[in-house]
Amino acid sequence: MSFPNETLNDGGDMSQYTVIMVDDEQNILYALKRCFSREKFRVICAGSGVEGLRLVAETAGVAVIVSDQRMPEMNGSEFLTRSRELAPDAIRMLLTGYSDIQTTIAAMNEGGVSHYISKPWEEFGLLQTVRDGVRQYHLIMESRRQQEIINQQNAELRSLLSRLTDQNMELERLASTDALTGLTNRRRFLEFFEKERNRTQRYGGDLSLIMFDIDHFKRVNDTWGHSAGDAVLCEIARETDLVLRVTDTAARYGGEEFVILLPETELTGALLIADRLRQLVSDTVIAQEQGILISITVSIGVAMIGPEESCDGFLNRTDQAMYLAKTNGRNRVEISNCCY
Ligand code: GH3
Ligand code: MG
Ligand code: MG
Repeated sequence: MSFPNETLNDGGDMSQYTVIMVDDEQNILYALKRCFSREKFRVICAGSGVEGLRLVAETAGVAVIVSDQRMPEMNGSEFLTRSRELAPDAIRMLLTGYSDIQTTIAAMNEGGVSHYISKPWEEFGLLQTVRDGVRQYHLIMESRRQQEIINQQNAELRSLLSRLTDQNMELERLASTDALTGLTNRRRFLEFFEKERNRTQRYGGDLSLIMFDIDHFKRVNDTWGHSAGDAVLCEIARETDLVLRVTDTAARYGGEEFVILLPETELTGALLIADRLRQLVSDTVIAQEQGILISITVSIGVAMIGPEESCDGFLNRTDQAMYLAKTNGRNRVEISNCCY
């Protein structure tokens, strides 16, 4: 007699799975083998628990392990319990007579045995039970495979997200930095300036601004070339950094024009910093290739914000103070203490 030979619903390949059957009676093994002869999954048999354990250890894809209970040396419960270490996901089934019911219950509780088949078995029932076991194992493997795919995709997403975050930070840095000097650029400075101005006017406090421009910078370019001019700009940026306090923000405002915003600083404090910078720049000699030595100076304007002054008004006033420093002879600091 034969029964419909089923395949897995999801199209999975049954031939990748093995069913191991253990019984000490050769004729029973023969009958079992014959019963499963038309199945797509592989069926291998062992005559003892010891041989069964060896087969479980050697075989990949052990989906179902069926064992007789009454066997000499190692009984079915012990064999199935020990097989757990070797094939933890395999579905375990015990073949028992009704008299062994207590053993079966113990094996189910302790040995990871999920099914029992009573002897003598009814062929179709046995076939269906084992097929269901193979299917159950297949589903376990499939869900584990899906879980691994999901885990891998999650790991990829996390790494992508972290790269994107890094790239965004780098983009943000590039978008807010002057490429030549590394100082904050004008766009970012103006955003920050607006925020600081609003904060100061809302909560009180002082806000000062320093604006400076390199004197006769055109001559540097004309005499020693554009790259010498660039080196001077970088040196100015470095020196600006030296006089800054952590709360101050320096920016390259235009070609050879720079600004420093000084929160919580009143005019005299700003003046002190401005003059320190002026002195530092005028004391520095910038060495270039071929023994070229460049000395430069800066003209600086300083102002402190008025109670309701706009950013533009404040910038203009500081710019005017800087212009005054130019017209008054350069290499000097002028303050704007007038009308806002
Ligand atoms: P003043 O003392 O009146 O400020 O005179 P100045 O020569 O510094 O001013 P001017 O505005 O005539 O010239 C500014 C020069 O700055 C002209 C321009 O080519 C140069 N410059 C602007 N940006 C850069 C830059 O990124 N690199 C270099 N090398 N030169 C620059
Ligand atoms: Mg200039
Ligand atoms: Mg200029």
